[in-house]
Amino acid sequence: MRRGLYIGRFQPYHLGHHTVIRQISADVDELIIAIGSAQRSHEPDNPFTAGERVLMVTRALSELCVKHYAIPVEDIQRNVLWASHVISMVPPFDVVYSNNPLVTRLFREAVVPVEHSPLFKRKEYSGTEIRRRMLSGEEWEHLVPGSVAAIINEVGGVERLRAVAAQDK
Ligand code: ATP
Ligand code: MG
Repeated sequence: MRRGLYIGRFQPYHLGHHTVIRQISADVDELIIAIGSAQRSHEPDNPFTAGERVLMVTRALSELCVKHYAIPVEDIQRNVLWASHVISMVPPFDVVYSNNPLVTRLFREAVVPVEHSPLFKRKEYSGTEIRRRMLSGEEWEHLVPGSVAAIINEVGGVERLRAVAAQDK
């Protein structure tokens, strides 16, 4: 049994994540998706709640045939303890898939094997770019799985993002 871990904030979950996860699924029996900065929501860089992100990941991964667990993990503001914190919150795993340099460094220092995941269309498949498009009224729905676009529309995600990005000046 090989269980893998993939970590992101998923603000929102997009087709870059989905393409990587589809590839990783072929290498593992089970996949844990850790939803980072779980306590954050209603901020311009973190508009969605942990629960909404669990829904995005769960619906999107139901299209892929891999057994998975979506687990929110809060920040602890202490990088040196962060890998142990994540390990304490998720099921046991054998390998972490990441291309984030800090995530890679912290898990390697904790003696956890890390494999690099490839990047796909990083300019467009990017949380930052999708939030920018939502704010400016540009097309964004084609950059996320259809099930995720439906969840964002159900919760009024674009309207919320505009509200929390507004200034009282
Ligand atoms: P943000 O711009 O808000 O940081 P993001 O697109 O980087 O969003 P995260 O949730 O921060 O998404 O990333 C989770 C993981 O997914 C990171 O390891 C990140 O490098 C990876 N990732 C992000 N975009 C892509 C992509 N287009 N292709 C492959 N992996 C990606
Ligand atoms: Mg990122």
